[in-house]
Amino acid sequence: MMLKDTYCGDLRAAHDGQRVRLAGWVHRRRDHGGLIFIDLRDSKGIVQVVLSPNEPAAHAAAHRSRIEWVLAIEGVVRRRSAETLNPKMETGEIEVVPLSCTVLAEAQTPPFYINESADVEEQLRVKFRYLDLRRPEAAAWIRKRHEVVRFIREYLYALDFTEIETPTLIKSTPEGARDFLVPSRMRPGTFFALPQSPQILKQLLMVAGFEKYFQLARCYRDEDFRANRVAEHTQLDLEMSFVEPEDVMALIEALYTAIAEKFVPGAIQWQPFPRLDYQDCMARYGIDRPDLRYGLAFVDIGAAVGDSSFQVFANAFAAGGEAKAIRIPGKADMTRKEIDELTEVARSGGAKGLAYIGFAAELRSPIAKFLTPDEIEAIRASTGAQQGDLVVIVADQPAIVARSLFAVRDFIGDKLGLKDPSVLAFTWVTGFPLLEWHPDEGRWDATHNPFSGFHEEDRPLLDSDPGAVIAKQYDLVLNGVEIGGGSVRITNRADQAKVLTLMNHSPEAQQERFGVILDALEYGAPPMGGVGMGIERLMMALFNIGHIRDVTAFPKMSSGLDPMFGAPSEVDLAQIEELGLRLAPAPA
Ligand code: ASP
Repeated sequence: MMLKDTYCGDLRAAHDGQRVRLAGWVHRRRDHGGLIFIDLRDSKGIVQVVLSPNEPAAHAAAHRSRIEWVLAIEGVVRRRSAETLNPKMETGEIEVVPLSCTVLAEAQTPPFYINESADVEEQLRVKFRYLDLRRPEAAAWIRKRHEVVRFIREYLYALDFTEIETPTLIKSTPEGARDFLVPSRMRPGTFFALPQSPQILKQLLMVAGFEKYFQLARCYRDEDFRANRVAEHTQLDLEMSFVEPEDVMALIEALYTAIAEKFVPGAIQWQPFPRLDYQDCMARYGIDRPDLRYGLAFVDIGAAVGDSSFQVFANAFAAGGEAKAIRIPGKADMTRKEIDELTEVARSGGAKGLAYIGFAAELRSPIAKFLTPDEIEAIRASTGAQQGDLVVIVADQPAIVARSLFAVRDFIGDKLGLKDPSVLAFTWVTGFPLLEWHPDEGRWDATHNPFSGFHEEDRPLLDSDPGAVIAKQYDLVLNGVEIGGGSVRITNRADQAKVLTLMNHSPEAQQERFGVILDALEYGAPPMGGVGMGIERLMMALFNIGHIRDVTAFPKMSSGLDPMFGAPSEVDLAQIEELGLRLAPAPA
């Protein structure tokens, strides 16, 4: 028989008079000598337990107990008197009067308070995550993640998707990042790799005839750590046969709309999700994952100032550069200090400076004296500036303009509070190039993954101008975060081999590394496409969560280290020898 029959957090006025068996942790304890009040916490919430000396055994156990001890209590629920009602607690209308109280486990004083949200050092939280997760607000995100994942699963089951697990000890299949390697003991000197994604496996499942597959897949990328990148993450990995990009996008858009409506009703800003062409997206936002909660798109003012004799513009154009502007509504009166700050932001993106024109009653601009009135009017007209607006301009090489103005737009978005946390701005980005040139390595590489298909009309370009081939690729962006993407794949061997050849893989290397998929494509591969959608990123964007740690049950630090287990760790020399490995001397 279970030690409890009721959750603490479930108790309500309707339970008045009922006898219940509870078990949980001592969240708070107030010992008044006579009466002892214990807030007992379990996975559903907290209830107040009142122990009086009338039940001496129970009272003695409660007197002895301390915070975080584990207690089992059998008692009677009673309504609180009017003056002790606590509207702040969900169970605040009642309390429990025990007949018995048993200590199930004692506890040391925890390294940080569980019952208050004190500022605790992150490292300590992660190290004692099993205590951190006792805090209801920490556990809530893990439960919320469960709800979202459950929703996704049920949605896809209803659409006839088959959930299939694929192995995590596979062969190294480069997908852009570094693989985590696992040495083989059975065959010393050889290695498994942990999957960066189940990409090839899901394509094989389509060749096998499953038609609609998904899984919540753990994916591993041995990357240097940045705010949004972690060694392992979960993605909704999905693949379908007999589809075009539109079909996959429609499914994902419907699913993500349903998720948003269920968990953050009314928050979607643009419906249907806007579609941005990659080139256009880069031109307007300087990045392929724009935050569309706010405007401030870049305007090319080349036509307005193309003939200007102003050195900054003339030099940029002479060097093949461009001039772009952002109009900031109503900010013509920005202080000198704020403009300096903005200029620093632009410089962080490589710009030499930030030109500006404030369209105040009197024109406010250090560059106005170098421009003709017609040029100023042309800038005003092309940016649509009204009286009171500020126009900021960067003229330089396109890559620098993109980086600098992106940084400026992002900064203003924060500064002016334009990133409304209650809004979800989804955007599709499509039209990516299939390949990009890596000058240092002298070869083409896939912009997304080597299996993405291309548009048939671009086929001749594979020979004449590979960089111009457009991929059947689609990325989904939410509030400035790329939350996933995918493509319709190459499904014949000759095309796949051709792309791999452009990426400089010799025929032998192709067979060695990609032989399985190349061979499989010769046995009747259906047209197929799918996505990999990050679960942690979705959680963070949906609920405005600052750090991936909050949605991960057992996270690592941003250094990539795990302070809880102390991993990665050294292992016994014997284990290493068994693997046929020898350690190189540690770098000095
Ligand atoms: N394999 C891709 C990724 O992990 C997703 C996909 O194209 O399906 O990003």
